[in-house]
Amino acid sequence: MNKSRANFGNSIVVRKWNLSSIFKTIHQHGPISRIELTGITGCSAGTVSNHVRTLIRKGFVIENKKGISSGGRKPVQLIINPKKAYIFSIEIEVNQIKIVMFDLEIKIVMKTIIPIIYKDDYMETFKQIFFEMNNMIEKKSLKLENLLGIGIAVPGLIDKVKGILEFAPNLGWKNVPIAMIFKDKYGLPIILNNEAKAAAIGERDAVYPHINNMVFVSINEGIGCGLYINGELYRGASGNAGEFGHITINTNGPQCHCGNRGCWEIYASESYMVNRYFELSGDKNKLPKEEIYKLGKNGDKKVIKIFTETGENIGIGLVNIINGLSPELLVIGGGIVEIKDYIYDEIIKKLEKSALSVSYRKTEIKFSKLGSLAAVYGMADLIINKKIEFI
Ligand SMILES: [Zn+2]
Repeated sequence: MNKSRANFGNSIVVRKWNLSSIFKTIHQHGPISRIELTGITGCSAGTVSNHVRTLIRKGFVIENKKGISSGGRKPVQLIINPKKAYIFSIEIEVNQIKIVMFDLEIKIVMKTIIPIIYKDDYMETFKQIFFEMNNMIEKKSLKLENLLGIGIAVPGLIDKVKGILEFAPNLGWKNVPIAMIFKDKYGLPIILNNEAKAAAIGERDAVYPHINNMVFVSINEGIGCGLYINGELYRGASGNAGEFGHITINTNGPQCHCGNRGCWEIYASESYMVNRYFELSGDKNKLPKEEIYKLGKNGDKKVIKIFTETGENIGIGLVNIINGLSPELLVIGGGIVEIKDYIYDEIIKKLEKSALSVSYRKTEIKFSKLGSLAAVYGMADLIINKKIEFI
């Protein structure tokens, strides 16, 4: 690449970065003046003024003239125009689907959760989603041009560029061209992402914007992780880095659907608790996790024992993550957050006993603040960023 082309490419990257960081700062700190924006973003007054002009012209930002007081002129305040556009965020889980409509301020406008009825037939599942989305669009009297895009989070391995879900073992789906199917239906920008990575993005943007080294461990039916390394989401060569759910913790353990034996998620996920309760109770059918959680919260001894085991097993995997990556912050998210009070002590006990203390004492352990909504928030962030970069 010759030098001028490299510079040209670089200047586009810088422009995109400045534009989205100005937008994000208005979102986080608005109402905010142009002068304050210069201070927080580190952009020059000229850059701020240019980009704010673009954002206002496109309708993404509005001037809030109420900032003028009687005592003297205050600088004009800027705020996000929440009604400028809406975003759909969809999280396909193993047994249910969350469909959330956000406004441009990333506030939830509407939310619905539907069960997956036809797991074997993904097109039928998508038809269910389309039906709900169309309902929401109609209720809000929106047109397709009012929508910025659709973000879809899935529990599996993806080809992010092609928008294909390559393999979701807990759903039994393989090679599903999700982005194409949604694009054909709505003609909007579509982003597909793994749910743990989406949740990591959501949690970091909303709760920990200044943490640069963070691991988000999403524990649901399986376990996935999103890694922030030096302030960037780390995807690795395949785009699927972070599959710590499949680190081996018992070489002679049971078969995992990934083809290996004794993976961490076999011992530390919500599926572990469901299977373990089934084993201990001698029931005819497996009890859903919601019922097991209810029993545990009501003091059922068998379930409390399972919670304790699961907490310890979660700790074993976290020891590997902390020793290997030494993050500043480790956030535990996903459905497991529901029983955080029952597993926290066991996790910490295991970490204190087994993690390398040089790394462990630098790691903060938290449960997700966004809880089960982290992934949909993350997908909304991604759609907005993508759109802002191209205005
Ligand atoms: Zn595995």
